[in-house]
Amino acid sequence: MTDVRFDGQVAIVTGAGVGLGRSHALGLAARGAKVVVNDLGGAVDGTGSGSDAAKAVVAEIQAMGGQAMANGADVSNAEQVSAMVADVIAQWGRIDILVNNAGILRDKTFAKMEMDDFQAVMDVHLLGSANCAHAVWPHMVAQSYGRIVFTTSASGMYGNFGQSNYGAAKSGMLGLMNVLAIEGAKFDIRANMLAPSAATRMTESLLSEDVLALLQPETITPGVLALVSGDAPTKMILGAGAGCFAEIQIRESAGVALTDEALTPEAVLGAMDQIRDPAGAEVMDHAFAQTRKYARMAAAARGLP
Ligand code: NAD
Repeated sequence: MTDVRFDGQVAIVTGAGVGLGRSHALGLAARGAKVVVNDLGGAVDGTGSGSDAAKAVVAEIQAMGGQAMANGADVSNAEQVSAMVADVIAQWGRIDILVNNAGILRDKTFAKMEMDDFQAVMDVHLLGSANCAHAVWPHMVAQSYGRIVFTTSASGMYGNFGQSNYGAAKSGMLGLMNVLAIEGAKFDIRANMLAPSAATRMTESLLSEDVLALLQPETITPGVLALVSGDAPTKMILGAGAGCFAEIQIRESAGVALTDEALTPEAVLGAMDQIRDPAGAEVMDHAFAQTRKYARMAAAARGLP
């Protein structure tokens, strides 16, 4: 296996002042990337701001002989993101890697959720990731190379009590990542998602000391470095925590084709075991793969060619 190196490459890591983003920024810099350490600062719920954390990470990178710049753009603000990208291009001439990592939490049950809190979480995670990807996209297209990671969450993939806003934003990223992977393919732009489980200020009150000790951000960063490397996969959801890595997949079961008098809600309920049978389930590589599958199944069920 050849060494993963990022010499001559420029990476933007959002929310990189603390936690996972800091670890990813240090990991990229240790392997030769010039790193933009973006962080608005502020509390877990997104209130407040300050650039000290980003500056401290830049100082750490410089102390190990690397190159880094701090940036305080709010990822949910498209103008600030455009200005960040323009600044990076002016100073370093290219952007090869974008790690969308910035995030906030505003947990409440859906019954108690204020829509302002729903919006704020969507704005930072989903719109923020889209703003950053949109701003770097033309540069990646022009150079025919780019690697983009979206940081999702098990909450978005599987659901979690009290996180309707966060779960919606994190699963919304899946739709964005899928399309960017498809549209980026001819420009060697690869898009992937990371679903981390880490000990950070977001989770420190939720997990025991023993578990937190295993889930250090540095156990996840190797997965991110793989996802932004030259040999990266594309359109993958990588689960990562405590040095464990697994693929999360959306699969569609083989299903059933109902026709004529059997095309009723009662028949759908009656066939539910077969509809949900995972044997023969497959990953669809794009939306029309599903349409073609149904056309094929329906024709076969009707004895058509
Ligand atoms: P963290 O709170 O330690 O770090 C998040 C960083 O994002 C902070 O430095 C914060 O200042 C920054 N940020 C927040 N809003 C911003 C904005 N608008 N613009 C720029 N920066 C902003 O959290 P973390 O645990 O390191 O989380 C990093 C990412 O991983 C988040 O997207 C989070 O949702 C996701 N995640 C974390 C876990 C976990 O177990 N910790 C699990 C699943 C997903």
